[in-house]
Amino acid sequence: MKTKTRILVTGAGGFIGHHLIKRLKADGHWVRGVDIKSPEYEPTAANEFELLDLRHWHNALLATRQIDQVYNLAADMGGIGYITASLADIARNNILINAHMLEASRLNGIRRFLFSSSACVYPGFKQDNAKVTPLREEDAHPADPEAGYGWEKLFTEQLCRYYRHDFGFETRIVRFHNVYGPLGTYDGGKEKAPAAISRKVALTPDGGEIEVWGDGEQTRSYMWIDDCIEGLTRLMASDYHAPLNLGTEELVSVDRLVDMVCKIAGKRLRKVHALDKPQGVRGRNSDNSRLRIVLGWEPQTRLADGLKITYHWIEEELERTGRLTTELVHA
Ligand code: NAD
Repeated sequence: MKTKTRILVTGAGGFIGHHLIKRLKADGHWVRGVDIKSPEYEPTAANEFELLDLRHWHNALLATRQIDQVYNLAADMGGIGYITASLADIARNNILINAHMLEASRLNGIRRFLFSSSACVYPGFKQDNAKVTPLREEDAHPADPEAGYGWEKLFTEQLCRYYRHDFGFETRIVRFHNVYGPLGTYDGGKEKAPAAISRKVALTPDGGEIEVWGDGEQTRSYMWIDDCIEGLTRLMASDYHAPLNLGTEELVSVDRLVDMVCKIAGKRLRKVHALDKPQGVRGRNSDNSRLRIVLGWEPQTRLADGLKITYHWIEEELERTGRLTTELVHA
């Protein structure tokens, strides 16, 4: 009889980790989830869930006991407002998690370790125009990543390479580009643009005003959560160990994103641009050329389709938690 792969997912109380565990369980694996918090919106599907702070060495050792594969998704992170507000805390917390998780995984004989990096590793000087040139993996150097969060991700990518070089340790490195979908944080300060805009649109009556950070012309691409999970499992199964983009090439401006959400909600809102709020790089898109070659696949879900499901999930959440008045629901 084939023995089940024993998989650890860190960041299991968070957005991507929670979805990943559902998929791994559906695929028949045994899964341990670890986080400093439980999932917010529904119970975990993991066989075991342990509340552990992975900044501490002994917890990283505990988390990786009797495990074959690690998806290391735990990170102190949030949207652009959050990651630009506390550079030292974010960089220190994440380097502690990642350095401990790599070494504990090596000592505990983990066969494969996947590190979740970010498009924030790409240099600012390649992203200062809204009409972007999509970013290829090799564009990360010479380095000029996002302060704090991006520098830490880039260094941990390098640490993965050192572990492979010195110890033959099997690592995989994924660079996510803006993931969105249901069960993601939508308020409290850590939410990303699609969730924040959906919440604001849902809470604003038809004909009202909506605050948009920046001048609205900054551009991004956004990846539907199910595509993200598919890409993650494909990368883990592959033998590719250099950093790999995982995102879509469907570029939109933030104003366009607002218009799409308004259309889904059936509302006409006036945009008020808050120029004093953080807006990150001017323009960023993924170049999926290598992704297509390595995985023989790329994310397929159109933004309009994924946004529709996400918006309605956030609207239902706001209604369930008593924040949406009857007039707004039926506006
Ligand atoms: P998330 O914030 O929902 O999940 C991260 C989880 O890590 C949280 O549940 C948090 O409690 C946990 N965590 C933080 N500190 C911890 C600690 N000391 N010990 C244990 N757990 C801890 O974020 P997400 O969107 O699910 O992101 C998952 C990974 O993907 C992260 O590494 C993130 O940097 C990366 N990423 C995400 C995106 C995106 O658009 N969502 C983009 C680029 C990279």
